[in-house]
Amino acid sequence: MKKLTRAPNLITAHHWMNVLTTAGIACELHNRYLSGAMGEIPADQCAPEIWILDDRDEALATGVLDRARNGPANARAWRCQHCGEWLEGQFTVCWQCGTARDPLNDE
Ligand SMILES: [Zn+2]
Repeated sequence: MKKLTRAPNLITAHHWMNVLTTAGIACELHNRYLSGAMGEIPADQCAPEIWILDDRDEALATGVLDRARNGPANARAWRCQHCGEWLEGQFTVCWQCGTARDPLNDE
């Protein structure tokens, strides 16, 4: 059992929990009942924390959360499988060679 990260608020914490659970990572939300005590204890100690049950999931969980924080996959830059050109996330076709983005081989 290990603390993975601290979420800025409960809504974000729940979102991250969903993302982790979907990825098959067992996790728990801690501190969720403490927000009512806000003002009596330092705010950063009231923030919800995400804990993973299995320490070995840490690298995977960190990667999953990084992607969740950076928004949906189609907002990320991608690399053309044909010519290697890097493209902004809003493009679905390579401007250089016309190859369509392949979501299964997304880098
Ligand atoms: Zn290309």
